Amino acid sequence: MSAQQREHTLDWYRQNLSVPPDHLKRIADAFQKELEKGLAAESSLLMIPTMVDILPQGHESGEYYAIDVGGTNLRVLYARLGQEPKSVEAEAVHSSQVPVELQSAPVEDLMDYVVQHTIQWSEQQGCSLLERSDPVVGFCFSFPVEQTSVSSGKLLRWTKGYTNPGAVGSDPAKLLGEAFKRRGIQANVGALINDTVGVLAAVRYIDGTDTIASVIMGTGTNACYMEQLGNITKWLPHYRPRTPDMVVNIEWPGFQATELPVLDEDRQLDAESTNAGEQQFEKLTAGLYMGDIARRIILRAAENGELFGGKVPENMRKMEQFETRFMAVAAQDNSAELSTTAGVLSEAFGMDAASIDLADLQEVKQICSLVSVRSARLIAAAICGIIMHLQRDKPKHEGGPPPRNCIAVDGGVLVRYRFYRELLVQGVRETLGDAVADQFQLKVVAGGSAFGAACMAAATTGYLRS
Ligand code: BGC
Ligand code: MG
Repeated sequence: MSAQQREHTLDWYRQNLSVPPDHLKRIADAFQKELEKGLAAESSLLMIPTMVDILPQGHESGEYYAIDVGGTNLRVLYARLGQEPKSVEAEAVHSSQVPVELQSAPVEDLMDYVVQHTIQWSEQQGCSLLERSDPVVGFCFSFPVEQTSVSSGKLLRWTKGYTNPGAVGSDPAKLLGEAFKRRGIQANVGALINDTVGVLAAVRYIDGTDTIASVIMGTGTNACYMEQLGNITKWLPHYRPRTPDMVVNIEWPGFQATELPVLDEDRQLDAESTNAGEQQFEKLTAGLYMGDIARRIILRAAENGELFGGKVPENMRKMEQFETRFMAVAAQDNSAELSTTAGVLSEAFGMDAASIDLADLQEVKQICSLVSVRSARLIAAAICGIIMHLQRDKPKHEGGPPPRNCIAVDGGVLVRYRFYRELLVQGVRETLGDAVADQFQLKVVAGGSAFGAACMAAATTGYLRS
């Protein structure tokens, strides 16, 4: 394969994966439209009213447990709220991977595992659930749930590779409560929330009221924000407002627009996923998928004889073999001779690192960087769409310093990769201009969602008690 042909292919991907400024702006416009459409009727964004109209204020107190079932991890936490200084570092917290086989087992098995794990851990920590009567548990459940109250709802669909039968259409809070009952514990599941809402609640508890939205970019991706009730016109005939606002879970993984840059590799990934045809925006962007998109492009180049002298290691054909952490490392590789990228190829595909050509390594690095930049630019576009919507309703600002709003961001990709965060900030700034961008600060809060579930449980049960 000549250097020229190689350059030609790379050029093609450079063009088709890149999202130049005018393109980013068009996607942001389309996002804003879908968002506003979804407040009034159906759109590709679910725009779920979360029933969360009262967020934690920071004065909550008491003893709470939280369980966070997300994509990759199960997190359990014990917090005594009401102490200073406030921090997302709860009294005791533990994170572990959800065994893959449990992601497709009957949902009762998954819940039994979660409860079993939580009880065991609480005993080791000296805050045994078995010794509490009616413990209050906040449940952060990172999947699309139509909320029927702050503490109940209906799972609309599984995402991120989960397929457990028996769950779709059921109430995850009830399923969890029943699993506790099977162990003889009467748990009060005081809040059932999306992880985006958890992050928002955590920041509100700690920092007060200037945080108006939150974004997750980890295994999956999503965002929520504070909306004026009057704007949610598709809903609420029987709802008696307690406050003028409510948190809306956007569920942006479903975002569809003709402007989105979708390649063959994306279509193949979607077709081979556990939820083909769903969550396509998530599949262009999120941590569960980015590495695999890069793998598909690398594989195609190898098959075309353009990489590795046309030799295709067997592992390279396997889905999920090239994890996003590999992709991120290669994308940022500044090592001499790209030895880090060589190491990554060897770890992922069992290739002999020493025998890979520098030109091949350069191409792999390029591909990895293009895929991550596309993701960050698309997420930036979605964030711009939210900000543009918020700006629409904002009273024109006169005199004094402009308000400063925070958008809290969390999730493995955002927390771990500074280059990704920088790309996000840059995309927002370039699209909205400095004057607007200055009013919205992206603030990283690592691991806030489980803690937020504890805070939400406190806010809800506290409200009911008072
Ligand atoms: C789910 C969202 C969740 C996001 C981040 C997505 O797959 O649809 O509900 O917030 O992942 O965990
Ligand atoms: Mg999570």
